[in-house]
Amino acid sequence: MAGFDLSGRRIWVAGHRGMVGSALCRRLESEKCEVITVDRELVDLRRQGDVEEWMSNAHPDVVVIAAATVGGIMANDSRPAEFLYDNLLIETNIIHSAWQLGLDKLLLLGSTCIYPRLAPQPIAEDSLLSGPLEPTNEWYAIAKIAGIKLCDAYRRQHGCDFVSAQPANLYGPHDNFDLQSGHVLPALMRKIHDANVSRTQKVEIWGTGNPLREFLHVDDLADALVFLLRHYNQSGQINVGSGEEVSIAKLAAMIGEVVGYTGEFSFAPDKPDGPPRKLADSRRLKAMGWQPQTRLVEGLQSTYRWYLDSMQRPQTTFPPTT
Ligand code: GDP
Repeated sequence: MAGFDLSGRRIWVAGHRGMVGSALCRRLESEKCEVITVDRELVDLRRQGDVEEWMSNAHPDVVVIAAATVGGIMANDSRPAEFLYDNLLIETNIIHSAWQLGLDKLLLLGSTCIYPRLAPQPIAEDSLLSGPLEPTNEWYAIAKIAGIKLCDAYRRQHGCDFVSAQPANLYGPHDNFDLQSGHVLPALMRKIHDANVSRTQKVEIWGTGNPLREFLHVDDLADALVFLLRHYNQSGQINVGSGEEVSIAKLAAMIGEVVGYTGEFSFAPDKPDGPPRKLADSRRLKAMGWQPQTRLVEGLQSTYRWYLDSMQRPQTTFPPTT
């Protein structure tokens, strides 16, 4: 299938230190392109001047916007200004400069939390803006919906090849294992690991444990992104899911098995559940010929190995952004 050729292109992975960006950099090593990155200490992506100057000097051909302020349910709910301001500015600045400089392609990342809280499941792309958002993450969602619309607007007014992809709940190497700001999978992995080490027989699961979530390994996402760079050139966002959906209680049990935890779980119904279900309809992407490779149980095992290894590395930090 002929498509956009990556060979010889300079691809800027914005957000290369995060979970998504680092996975994409690893995946792009097997392509004949040149990956370029810049550290956040040098360029603040929330400042248009910084972004314009850096992009016009670095002259990328392609940009993937994996830089974002992200976090789990508590972080989203408690830092609304940051989630809205940072994400609006990052995507606006990069998209506008990409148009001004005539980049060949731009791919913006979001997440399935852009969809209405009670969207029909599995959630098809055309559910966007068809109902009220989930209140715990509406700030992030509004910013990402604006990003999708920016891509569409520059495509419509200026003919730019700008696209956006919305992955399911991600996990894998370089995830954020912080208990307050992380997502459920790394947070539970860390809590369960710590309980094992300290021989505590109880681990707390926030909420009721009933919500259903679809988990996608970040290496599968990176592979899908390369596929989309090659083959996707349309307005509107495209979903990227694994189809593997589990309840939060079941996820905790699976992580418990991987970690070798034999204690109990308790629930904290005073903590928010978020949306009851968030399963992406990924039929469009699959019909184009892409499939995920990593089963959840294998992904949990490899992520736990990565987590254990990371604790041996003195410099490890768990970045708050992807
Ligand atoms: P969401 O998918 O946007 O809701 O984000 P999260 O990954 O943060 O949370 C998913 C679900 O896991 C929610 O129902 C949380 O209440 C639940 N959950 C259970 N324990 C934890 C935990 O320790 N950390 C987080 N972040 N979520 C948890």
